[in-house]
Amino acid sequence: MDIIVLRPGATASELRYIVKKLKGRGFDATISKGTERTVIGVIGDTSNITEDEGNAFASMPGVEKVHRITQPFKLASRDFKSKDTIIRVGKNTIGGKKIHVIAGPCAVENLPTLLKIAQSVKKAGATFIRGGAFKPRTSPYSFQGLGEEGLKFLAEVREKTGMPVITEIMDPRDMDVILKYADIIQIGARNMQNFRLLREVGSHNKPIFLKRGLSATVKDLLMAAEYIMAQGNNKVILCERGIRTFETATRNTLDLSAVPVLKHLSHLPVIVDPSHGAGQWRLVSPMAKAAIAAGADGLMIEVHSNPEEALSDGEQSLKPEKFNVLMRELRVIAKAVGRKI
Ligand code: PEP
Ligand code: MN
Repeated sequence: MDIIVLRPGATASELRYIVKKLKGRGFDATISKGTERTVIGVIGDTSNITEDEGNAFASMPGVEKVHRITQPFKLASRDFKSKDTIIRVGKNTIGGKKIHVIAGPCAVENLPTLLKIAQSVKKAGATFIRGGAFKPRTSPYSFQGLGEEGLKFLAEVREKTGMPVITEIMDPRDMDVILKYADIIQIGARNMQNFRLLREVGSHNKPIFLKRGLSATVKDLLMAAEYIMAQGNNKVILCERGIRTFETATRNTLDLSAVPVLKHLSHLPVIVDPSHGAGQWRLVSPMAKAAIAAGADGLMIEVHSNPEEALSDGEQSLKPEKFNVLMRELRVIAKAVGRKI
């Protein structure tokens, strides 16, 4: 049931008009008249009232506010599916008791470096290797990634280490080549509302790692997940990676409250990326620990064997030794919140 609150002083004919519109749409209305204002309860399955229709009611004369009870996202919503979604990738399951740590360089640079990083993060307990072959760089003059050559290096590293690969897609035209090499496809923050791209990845059945946009609300993120799921792909992993705020002390503001909010609103797994969230290697470990304490199902962390020489995001990359220490500390926190790494 949705609720329509009328303005104080709304007229009887305004009320009649709204009720007529509701009836015409197949709903019943209960009217409760208070001393100050009148409230209309809309009876029936209001989940099929679109957002635009809801807005149309909100702008009718006499209306102060419309309270929607059902969320505009359905497939992604906990109302639709109460049990946590568990996503299987090879022998790994994301969203269950086990916490997964995805680690690796920001960008794939060359095979020996990638392999060295992968071996070290695997030894420390990471379960997925990350690395961008198509990089969304702010400047067109910055390193843009190795393209398919980078994907081949990722596949070779998977072969040698057994770690599944997560990598970003930026353009629907790269779908075939990405499908050939990736185990999980990342949609980056800058593409979270690239609806053509969302629909494209939704029409395949590879798991999708969907990063929250720089200025996206939790609802925007869940609506983006809905785009993917509406195409038939339910394997969506949500990622909080920081949002833009007025704060300049950190690269972004890592919104850790989004973790319990998302877990409440949705059944999808939630992973936190403290590297992009904070933007400085010193802040990565404390925020990673806080994320696990807040209930995240995993982490994505940038690691580089030589951050000073990294072609992108070196300043926020952990050295393998620091990553190893973090993994040990995370085990204690995971245990305290009933999870394991
Ligand atoms: C990345 O993972 O390297 C990346 C570019 O992330 P984001 O889209 O969150 O900025
Ligand atoms: Mn990066």
